Amino acid sequence: MRTVSGRTDHVVVVGAGLAGLSAALHLAGSGRRVTVVERAEVPGGRAGLDEFDGYRVDTGPTVLTMPELVDEALGAVGSSIRERLDLIALHPAYRARFADGSALDVHTDGAAMEQEVRDFAGPAEAAGYRRLRDWLTRMYRAEMHRFIDANFDSPLDLVSPELARLVALGGFGRLGPAIGRFLRDERLRRVFSFQALYAGLDPRRALALYAVISYMDTIGGVWFPRGGMHAVPRALAGAAAEAGVRFRYGAEVTELERSGDRITAVRTEHERIDADAVVLTPDLPVVHRLLGLRPRRELRWSPSAVVLHAGTTRSWSDAHHTISFGAAWQDTFTEIIRDGRPMTDPSLLVTRPTATDPSLAPAGRELHYVLAPCPNLATGPLDWQRIGPAYRDELVGVLQRRGFTGFEESVTAERLVTPLDWAARGHAEGTPFSAAHTFAQTGPFRPRNMVRGLENVVLAGSGTTPGVGVPPVLVSGKLAAQRITGSGRARKIVAE
Ligand SMILES: Cc1cc2nc3c(=O)[nH]c(=O)nc-3n(C[C@H](O)[C@H](O)[C@H](O)COP(=O)(O)OP(=O)(O)OC[C@H]3O[C@@H](n4cnc5c(N)ncnc54)[C@H](O)[C@@H]3O)c2cc1C
Repeated sequence: MRTVSGRTDHVVVVGAGLAGLSAALHLAGSGRRVTVVERAEVPGGRAGLDEFDGYRVDTGPTVLTMPELVDEALGAVGSSIRERLDLIALHPAYRARFADGSALDVHTDGAAMEQEVRDFAGPAEAAGYRRLRDWLTRMYRAEMHRFIDANFDSPLDLVSPELARLVALGGFGRLGPAIGRFLRDERLRRVFSFQALYAGLDPRRALALYAVISYMDTIGGVWFPRGGMHAVPRALAGAAAEAGVRFRYGAEVTELERSGDRITAVRTEHERIDADAVVLTPDLPVVHRLLGLRPRRELRWSPSAVVLHAGTTRSWSDAHHTISFGAAWQDTFTEIIRDGRPMTDPSLLVTRPTATDPSLAPAGRELHYVLAPCPNLATGPLDWQRIGPAYRDELVGVLQRRGFTGFEESVTAERLVTPLDWAARGHAEGTPFSAAHTFAQTGPFRPRNMVRGLENVVLAGSGTTPGVGVPPVLVSGKLAAQRITGSGRARKIVAE
């Protein structure tokens, strides 16, 4: 494994999002002196908090999967998730609602889910689900520790018995058809393949490797931390501070001082901080600007999302998390990924965090978070300033037609977030989901976490390996720390 050379006593981490916090904890746990420099006043980055009219709103992820990765980061400094977070397991993990009026609860428990599928679509589909669950579990086991939670220096590092196992499992085929081999019911196929969108892809085109997201979503378990998802970065930052990590909030890094092949200091408007090594976690365009590098190739960016946060006087379902599927499916991906148009028959993610933690809203009020995938600003350069309010009305209309009767009248406070807002936060092409996980931007082909020509700079976060999402960026922070400390698994993959 290539590692940072020379002194690494004092590491400066740029960004206090989940990747930066994970890196800081793993570095502090290995005895490094760590300073985290964050432009915002609080930690969290995309896992942020917005407060208005007495509502406490998560601005990014709405649920937690793979909590063991949070525990691992906390464990690096002798703390634990049990000490720092009150996690509530979601049952069901989520509810899927379909255009034909049917609904399916997704249960983490295998027997409960098999029964749910049997009741929903009959015994043959239940048997198909059982085989799918086994396949998803084997995919996860084949990938997680060898390919996701590992640093690579070359695509050749992938060549291994585990790679042969992944090939045999069909990992390099396409996700949609792979799921289709187990399930015939179109609705069930959607439930286990829509997760490709989290990787920025149409399930028809996504590598079957990304079934690992379906595993995390439907089998691994889904939790909500009391206080909201923003409680996760708060907990990580709290443990890091207690372990001696210094935080500089409200401090935007404007320049990196370079001497030869090393970055020697990080500059903000008010301060110069000496650094033996640097971990950079902002979006890639910011990283490239700070390093004065031209990207080596054009990247394809994931679709974006419009999010409507609505405080309401009532609720419509007991579920925390509902996926409301439109009748359209294949066309939906074509519209937002290829044609650059908003979905004409949208599939929406509707989260009601107050179903699990009522304290996030004033007494007697409810909070709804409605996420609509949409084109990024490169594929769909839409004038969101102009069309945003009309699109908001359209979303509310769709919700009302799908059973959220009287939604409009019940709204007491709201916020609309469009690709323009994501762009204003510095996210490339107005998407908070970074570079899409196409084959050419996956694994060793994704922008690497070590930078050519620089000996003491490591990247972490969504733009580098392993990729986008809470679990991957937590892993990326750990991998960045390993590049600095030299600890961690040998990169050459060997058979177990
Ligand atoms: C609406 C939405 C929904 C999502 N849903 C899910 C989900 O359901 N499941 C899931 O797993 N993931 C989800 N994600 C993705 C997940 O939130 C992100 O992948 C992850 O939080 C990114 O973490 P990060 O540390 O890489 O980046 P960030 O959180 O962006 O952290 C980077 C930090 O760097 C700071 N920074 C940038 N430039 C500078 C500078 N020059 N100087 C100092 N600081 C700087 C930023 O302020 C930020 O705090 C969602 C994201 C969004 C936005």
